Amino acid sequence: MADAVPLPADRAVLVLGAGTMGAGIAEVAAAAGHAVLLRDADPAAAGRAIAGIRAGLQRRVQRGRLDAAQAEAIAARIGTDADEAPLPAAGLAIEAIVEDLDAKARALGALLPRLPGDALLATNTSSLSVTALAARLPAPGRVVGMHFFNPATILPLVEVVRGQASDPDAVARIAATARAWGKVPVECASTPGFIVNRVARPFYGEALRLLLERHADPATLDAVMREAGGFRMGPCELMDLIGHDVNFAVTRSVWAGFFHDPRYQPSLVQQALVDAGWLGRKRGRGFYAYGDDAPAPVPAERSGPRPREVIAEGDLGPAHALAERLLAAGLPLRRAAGAGLLRVDGHAVALTDGRTADARSQAQGEPVALFDLALDWSACTRAAVALPAGASDAHAEAAFGLFSALGMRVSPLGDAPGLAVARTVAMLVNEAADAVQQGVAAPDDIDAAMQRGVNYPRGPLDWGRALGLDYVAGVIAHLADAHGEDRYRVSPWLRRAALQAAPAHG
Ligand code: NAD
Repeated sequence: MADAVPLPADRAVLVLGAGTMGAGIAEVAAAAGHAVLLRDADPAAAGRAIAGIRAGLQRRVQRGRLDAAQAEAIAARIGTDADEAPLPAAGLAIEAIVEDLDAKARALGALLPRLPGDALLATNTSSLSVTALAARLPAPGRVVGMHFFNPATILPLVEVVRGQASDPDAVARIAATARAWGKVPVECASTPGFIVNRVARPFYGEALRLLLERHADPATLDAVMREAGGFRMGPCELMDLIGHDVNFAVTRSVWAGFFHDPRYQPSLVQQALVDAGWLGRKRGRGFYAYGDDAPAPVPAERSGPRPREVIAEGDLGPAHALAERLLAAGLPLRRAAGAGLLRVDGHAVALTDGRTADARSQAQGEPVALFDLALDWSACTRAAVALPAGASDAHAEAAFGLFSALGMRVSPLGDAPGLAVARTVAMLVNEAADAVQQGVAAPDDIDAAMQRGVNYPRGPLDWGRALGLDYVAGVIAHLADAHGEDRYRVSPWLRRAALQAAPAHG
């Protein structure tokens, strides 16, 4: 991919569809020095898009972020294409029209006779098969997915999607061109959801499952995922931002694309929001209410007294750095042999391993309170805690007090297997592992896609390795025991990698 030559700047780019994405892509290509022609079925749309691009460039000039001459040069490179004349200078056509396979095939098919024989055809489809689109065109080898993220002028990620018949040189040239345009290209095979829309499914799916099973409310779940998990936004607020209609449609499309694999099953919780018209921010109501007088979300919180004694019994696994934070906070910490848990004023408190607190207590032969995983034990500001049935008040206070003493907020959750962060991260790692196993993309590209496309704090595979892949596989296996569902099956790649890798915690 690195050696391919990008589209030379003197080759024009034709952008089909002058809506949100087409306008953004046109600006990106023009900023890279190409002459750009915008074409839309709506005769006024291309003109509107150009006016919008000019206004946006002007705003950047006013804010001192762009030189006025540069802005004018970019805008001057963008024109409209309304006739049927040959386009001898065109080297690339990118379609960003309505998300419909027939319409896309017809539009690209009509364009093809006007283009030189070496021009590449790219589709910005979010969900359609690049393979199926290419098969409807006379030059399937020249068709490649070029999936920009919205807003295309700002978000760096471009998924370069290889169809079954895509010519490897065409794929490499599209990737090199995206890089020359200042983007971060990641190559993947044309499979449902490509990388990002597939690997991200558990971020929404596990949250919706926790809500369905009434282990948490949206405000608590979001606070835990942000402040313990390190995600920029919690899943509920993010779904409200994306729009439940859009998010639900993507889930349904990926689910259908995988022949209704239960791993991607849509949720009744989101169906209800869609049915009610509670589509999120854009409608003023989703999981949360929006507007000036809307109440701020209030996560559930508890606290407890500073522990008198904490004993770290055995290896705390991925929570080993918590011991350092306890010491730094001046808590009296002793070490002893044991089953990998903290004994707080005599009460057992352990990191979730995917079992419920009830199951863990039964195995341990004593009540065990559980806490959720954190991205960074030295800095996280919230802990989530689950108690086994019948836990004493003293046990609850010990578990809450452990984290209160570190200056953290503590949110109680129901006795959910794998709590929230651990089960979500484990399922993200698992999904990424399956994508690697199935040749969808390379591990580093998957990690880059999730960090650059959806701002995850760590690439899932890198995160999984840091936790220890054996820990991740164990969480999923326990989720499978707890739910008895094929949804929680360990990826063969993860299972093998977990066996091969020496546990590395960090
Ligand atoms: P949009 O509705 O804003 O724009 C689509 C434009 O295409 C409209 O101007 C419409 O008039 C035009 N159009 C429709 N049919 C046409 C045809 N046959 N020929 C020429 N023009 C036609 O849509 P959008 O959000 O820009 O999405 C466009 C494509 O990009 C879709 O495939 C979508 O899945 C994909 N995409 C969207 C996003 C996003 O967040 N909006 C992100 C990535 C990819």
